[in-house]
Amino acid sequence: MGDLGWIAYPKNGWEEIGEVDENYAPIHTYQVCKVMEQNQNNWLLTSWISNEGASRIFIELKFTLRDCNSLPGGLGTCKETFNMYYFESDDEDGRNIKENQYIKIDTIAADESFTELDLGDRVMKLNTEVRDVGPLTKKGFYLAFQDVGACIALVSVRVYYKKCPSVIRNLARFPDTITGADSSQLLEVSGICINHSVTDEAPKMHCSAEGEWLVPIGKCLCKAGYEEKNNTCQAPSPVSSVKKGKITKNSISLSWQEPDRPNGIILEYEIKYFEKDQEMSYTIIKSKETTITADGLKPGSAYVFQIRARTAAGYGGFSRRFEFETSPVSVAVSSDQSQIPIIVVSVTVGVILLAVVIGFLLSGSCCDHGCGWASSLRAVAYPSLTWRCGYSKAKQDPEEEKMHFHNGHIKLPGVRTYIDPHTYEDPNQAVHEFAKEIEASCITIERVIGAGEFGEVCSGRLKLQGKREFPVAIKTLKVGYTEKQRRDFLGEASIMGQFDHPNIIHLEGVVTKSKPVMIVTEYMENGSLDTFLKKNDGQFTVIQLVGMLRGIASGMKYLSDMGYVHRDLAARNILINSNLVCKVSDFGLSRVLEDDPEAAYTTRGGKIPIRWTAPEAISFRKFTSASDVWSYGIVMWEVMFYGERPYWEMTNQDVIKAVEEGYRLPSPMDCPAALYQLMLDCWQKDRNSRPKFDEIVSMLDKLIRNPSSLKTLVNASSRVSNLLVEHSPVGSGAYRSVGEWLEAIKMGRYTEIFMENGYSSMDAVAQVTLEDLRRLGVTLVGHQKKIMNSLQEMKVQLVNGMVPL
Ligand code: AMP
Repeated sequence: MGDLGWIAYPKNGWEEIGEVDENYAPIHTYQVCKVMEQNQNNWLLTSWISNEGASRIFIELKFTLRDCNSLPGGLGTCKETFNMYYFESDDEDGRNIKENQYIKIDTIAADESFTELDLGDRVMKLNTEVRDVGPLTKKGFYLAFQDVGACIALVSVRVYYKKCPSVIRNLARFPDTITGADSSQLLEVSGICINHSVTDEAPKMHCSAEGEWLVPIGKCLCKAGYEEKNNTCQAPSPVSSVKKGKITKNSISLSWQEPDRPNGIILEYEIKYFEKDQEMSYTIIKSKETTITADGLKPGSAYVFQIRARTAAGYGGFSRRFEFETSPVSVAVSSDQSQIPIIVVSVTVGVILLAVVIGFLLSGSCCDHGCGWASSLRAVAYPSLTWRCGYSKAKQDPEEEKMHFHNGHIKLPGVRTYIDPHTYEDPNQAVHEFAKEIEASCITIERVIGAGEFGEVCSGRLKLQGKREFPVAIKTLKVGYTEKQRRDFLGEASIMGQFDHPNIIHLEGVVTKSKPVMIVTEYMENGSLDTFLKKNDGQFTVIQLVGMLRGIASGMKYLSDMGYVHRDLAARNILINSNLVCKVSDFGLSRVLEDDPEAAYTTRGGKIPIRWTAPEAISFRKFTSASDVWSYGIVMWEVMFYGERPYWEMTNQDVIKAVEEGYRLPSPMDCPAALYQLMLDCWQKDRNSRPKFDEIVSMLDKLIRNPSSLKTLVNASSRVSNLLVEHSPVGSGAYRSVGEWLEAIKMGRYTEIFMENGYSSMDAVAQVTLEDLRRLGVTLVGHQKKIMNSLQEMKVQLVNGMVPL
């Protein structure tokens, strides 16, 4: 889509034409149809294409070709083929080379051609042809398409290479490997033994031209003390002995021994339990100690427990099942026994008070801040947690240490597999647990691409041992940082390093042993989503936009399943790569609001993101996955509006007031009704009524599978009646000039054409038809729609104010 920068000559040969496909989604094509004229020689040259190190590339063409027999009188000159060429070049200087320097790849003929009748029925007979070229010796190439008198529409050109994807086999890791130049070549690749393993016989595999790994030879073996499991040497052995402790009618206390072979430092235990025969509904508790109390149980019921340990290498296997029973409810109480509950209650209250007092006293001496009552109470109520300052700093409820599942789905909020780095006494330990240390010498910094909170963000390359060099983004910590800044900076890596999902920005590692301190992540070619959308206004199909939203929702589902609340979800915090894959980023710690109510309005050098934040999070700091869903609705709006600022220029105070009074953002232009409805659902005042991220993902999947469901748009008149006119750039009807109007709808690029063609007043513009637009050269369907919709809106009576829900 958009301006590809391809060159056509002569000028009246190949033409770039915007069309719609059978689903009425806009598509771009290059077309030529000079079938009636003799001696045609029309060239279309692509821009330079990097081969990314591949020596054999594949070119897939999709095109339609008109049947010469269907052309009256054209038979003498009409052709049914065209030619494809390439020219290798290390850089973009090869652009001016002559036709005869191009090397022919093939003559392309259609398997299916179409007649006019087919066109009438909108049956486009799309041909797909694939050719390959190799060996390539330079860094890239140009493609060229030569027409000699056919009637062709080139719909897509896909250039790709094949690779054997990185894999672990026989405990050795084999890197991503681009296939060889020759179609029968097998590339021998050496594997590298995974952590905690050593070479037995040098591991090797062969990468075939089709991108398949073949013929593994040799292997690695786990080092002494490590066991092989699921292609790793890494996990602790199961806990083998579990003993019951105190049992009451509602609780069971357990203790256990460390596994015989911990194979590393045990970081925590996971205890899974469920009522006997009710396995589908289970609870998980995490504990750093070897004791826990499961409470809230039914009296006189049997419960099944299983425990597993986690080291830096991951979880070990679960222990065998241990079954214990809670005490039954006592039926009759004798006069002597009747005193017992009172004594027990008194003793318990006494113990709690004592613990609270001790905790209060200790808190003053062991912490900088944040200790005290909460930590003391927590230690009593949840013996599984250590009573130390590290935990007292945790900003999560004790509830969040527990997870409840039903039928494999989490039952209650407060899921917690994400570990808050604040819970570590030593933040360096958290960084090193979750992030790999990278040597600075493996990183090449190329250029500055942005400014982060703590220093510059650069692009560059990372070369890890046994891997091909690949592009990365590098965040640096500026010199002269304080210890707190270093901690907060690396905090982002401690969080990011816990996530592994295609829609979450991937952490490669950190540099902490030398200066500058750096965080290295995967590189996202198109940068942040808001800027990218603004730059490419109107250029994507609805399906492409929904694809982006689906990716973001999927990343957010993963985060909410992990128990991580983002708090700053906005298009500016989404990164997008060259394949238009969106990934959630920005996992700073410092956005936790401080106690000072004024501080709620300043954060990270800017304002708290009022426009993106749910009302309950603004008013009483209730940040949850449901408040992230609200923000997600705002991101949907930003995406469908190509990066427009939510609530335009309204002040934060006006936004808070309007939202509190029940007003909501209006639908973006051309927005499918189903998507706007989803936005409104995300902006429900009652946070429990908002959809969950898994529901959002399923809903978007459904829309993508059934694109016709996206054809019903929010109709223009209802959309306009929702606008807050004073703040809307569109539809106010009060534009003083054509230029001002086109600028307001971000179509300023057409001002000159409009003026030159006599559309110099708003009255004249009001008469413009779609045909006129095409004639003026507005060929992009997205732009045509934008202009036509705005004109239509200007004709509709406006109502001042957004409509209450
Ligand atoms: P941040 O500090 O994460 O907000 O990053 C500041 C800016 O740097 C972003 O707005 C992006 O433009 C750019 N940036 C950050 N991370 C990446 C990345 N992984 N790939 C490409 N650009 C990035």
